[in-house]
Amino acid sequence: MIEITGQHLINGAWENSDSVTFASANPSTDSNNPWTFFEANSHDAQRAISAADGAFAQYRRTTAIERAEFLEAIASEIEALGPQLVDAAMSESALPQMRIEGERGRTCGQLRLFANNLRNPINPVFIDKAQADRQPLPKADSRLMQIPLGPVVVFGASNFPLAFSTAGGDTASALAAGCPVIVKGHPAHPATTELVCHAINRAISKTNMPSGVFSMVQSSTPQVAQLLVQAPQVKAVGFTGSQRVGDILNNLIQQRPIAIPFFGELGSTNPQFILPQLLEQQATQLGNNQVASMLMGHGQFCTSPGIVVVERAQGYDKLITALKQAVTAAAPGTMLTRGICQTYHAQVAQLKQNSALTLIGEGKTGTGLCQSSAVLFSVNASDFLADASLQEEVFGPCALIISCDDSAQQLAVARALSGQLTASIHGVDNEIVDALELIDAVSQHVGRLIFNQMPTGVEVCHSMQHGGPYPASTAPATTSVGSQAITRFTRPICLQNMPEAALPTIVADTSDSPMVIV
Ligand code: NAP
Repeated sequence: MIEITGQHLINGAWENSDSVTFASANPSTDSNNPWTFFEANSHDAQRAISAADGAFAQYRRTTAIERAEFLEAIASEIEALGPQLVDAAMSESALPQMRIEGERGRTCGQLRLFANNLRNPINPVFIDKAQADRQPLPKADSRLMQIPLGPVVVFGASNFPLAFSTAGGDTASALAAGCPVIVKGHPAHPATTELVCHAINRAISKTNMPSGVFSMVQSSTPQVAQLLVQAPQVKAVGFTGSQRVGDILNNLIQQRPIAIPFFGELGSTNPQFILPQLLEQQATQLGNNQVASMLMGHGQFCTSPGIVVVERAQGYDKLITALKQAVTAAAPGTMLTRGICQTYHAQVAQLKQNSALTLIGEGKTGTGLCQSSAVLFSVNASDFLADASLQEEVFGPCALIISCDDSAQQLAVARALSGQLTASIHGVDNEIVDALELIDAVSQHVGRLIFNQMPTGVEVCHSMQHGGPYPASTAPATTSVGSQAITRFTRPICLQNMPEAALPTIVADTSDSPMVIV
């Protein structure tokens, strides 16, 4: 068993320079967990930044195979933490054992995916061979490759204490890219963070990586977060959380003398468009699927379906009946933190006061301070279109059914959407073929367009796009899940006329990478 000390991991050592502490809460019991954690101060943050900056010179020169071994070692060390990690994550998040174990598998799978991509590159390098006799001017040899940006700050997410946190997708892709990482631990799950840091630190020792390649500071106040994103040595930031905090951090970053990329994954309502023929055929099934999907993780997934856009056509009443039955049967759920639960209650209370909305049904209520119930509302499309606040994400098991007069109004809703991670279109094949205008309209606003499936569940694969126009993400040209997440932390450089003997292996003629040679 690893003793939880509550300290920060800085340059390979566990330390703290302040005596102020905070505790993590157990949302299931409404009491504190038995550990205390030291608040990082500016000195701790600066030390972590300097360590990352110092390590960059060495780490950027590691080979792809060495970085692959490092990532694989992190995955193995996380697995070696065994039940202690699962127990800590459960007591800090109230997520069930199966979910945490699944998330651990996903976390290790992501690390191994990036390792595999380092061993077997998938992105091509581009080589233009010299043409000395080209007229009217000779052409120089030029080769395009990616180089790492430098130290990256990663914010752990509350809703994925493993897969989007300390050794989650942002960290894995930044390390794979050749960037040192400083994690700002999420105050909701500091013990989970500390345990994962032990695994990373062991992997650093076992694979002889520079000790500053990974540091972590714990904090429950905004000051450290703000200092980290403003530090000149930091070259990119990965963040998953609220639009409010994402905007604060992004504004600070834009005020730096030289702005850096901010990869913020903020909010999404993941609209579900139901087409009339399928509605007529499968209204009950569609209603049940909607409620099952919005109850996953008690609605605390970034891909939770918070909006359903449907014509009041044949099958509509059946859909509403199914939704009502499923939601009223839903058991109360425990949310990740008291703050998240309070925000959820406040948002639902506000929706209940909105006279344009009709309450379809509400799940059973619980008694715990972090417990909440699922809820479904309906609204006419014209009222939805007139009130921009109805597009805001309600983080939790809440959804709004937007009833449309006709397909033109459904299209108008699609055109008015804010940026989304995903949207789904549910229809039979022939009506999907005929829905080109709707598909085009929805495509303008989403990163992933899904057909006849619910949005919850994000595959970690080469073709995944997890990001979308703001506020879904602050960098819609990039993804935070899947192989291509690595490109967030690199930038292209063209090497022109470099002597062959000096060329980095990846752009040498003998490179193992897929190549486009002209
Ligand atoms: P959050 O409030 O956005 O906090 C995320 C991180 O930012 C934490 O590390 C937090 O640490 C830090 N932070 C908070 N206030 C800050 C400030 N003023 N300046 C700088 N950093 C600050 O997210 P959360 O606590 O995880 O959840 C709250 C809400 O975020 C949810 O209700 C939901 O709406 C949204 N959320 C969305 C997603 C998604 O997938 N889109 C995921 C999780 C949460 P400190 O508190 O220590 O400063």
